[in-house]
Amino acid sequence: MSEQEPKPNIRDYQSFSSLSTFVGCGMQYYYRYVEGIKTPPSVAIIEGSAGHKGQEKNFVQKVETHIDLPVDVVLDVVSDTFEQRSADVETWETPKGSAKDEIIKLMRFVHTNHNPKIQPVECEAEHIIEIPNPESGVPVKMKSYIDLVDTTQTIRDSKFTKKAKSQGDADNDMQLTIYSYVKSLPKVAFDCFIKGDKPRVATIPSVRGIRQWNWLERAVPKYIKAIESGVFMPCDPAHWRCSERFCGYWLRCPHGGANTNKVTIDQAPANLLAPETEISDLL
Ligand code: SF4
Repeated sequence: MSEQEPKPNIRDYQSFSSLSTFVGCGMQYYYRYVEGIKTPPSVAIIEGSAGHKGQEKNFVQKVETHIDLPVDVVLDVVSDTFEQRSADVETWETPKGSAKDEIIKLMRFVHTNHNPKIQPVECEAEHIIEIPNPESGVPVKMKSYIDLVDTTQTIRDSKFTKKAKSQGDADNDMQLTIYSYVKSLPKVAFDCFIKGDKPRVATIPSVRGIRQWNWLERAVPKYIKAIESGVFMPCDPAHWRCSERFCGYWLRCPHGGANTNKVTIDQAPANLLAPETEISDLL
């Protein structure tokens, strides 16, 4: 089935991931959620996945016990998850051993310095809610797994990253808005676990309220209406996401690598990269 004739069987629930994929690039949504094509994970994805599993192992039990697990128990989970998921990686931008060392070092720091300050009341709980949809009259089902809610009623989302998120990121992030709406809790935060020679943690708090929740109730039905219309727009070809490195659908997408007219910045002849060159000139 071509992109002009999308399958009508749109999935019966949405998530932050599916909506942010659609907002970033309609074609990526089409390949992932209509055609069901998954792409191999990047090294950063499996590092984050291993770190998340370690946090989950500790915090699920800490809801009841109020005691952190020994660090070696957590690091074993991180290591095992990293090994399991590494089988799916096709391109190691960072050598496997270095990537594993990096996430183990980071998680040792996080577990020793950050986790003792956090007491969860909920960890990795599944939430399914319905958002009113005046466009069609059929509410939008939204499924979320929230990393953690702590005893201060703050929703915390972990990010495994090379640099801290900004305050603007935390204030405008759709994922935090969805979680706040789902729980009807105003306090949200990113816990940024920052990789590198000197691992560190940066917590960026923010708040949500009626203004952001109303935005969500207006925006989500519009996204769903666009998805159901079957028009899957390609993203801006000048955007970093529309490149062989960052798009797993690059080689099959007629707006990416399958478009023989598309010239990426890396591939472009030097004379096309003059400062005044517009990306539209390259197509
Ligand atoms: S190549 Fe570009 S337009 Fe195509 S799916 Fe990837 S990001 Fe979207």
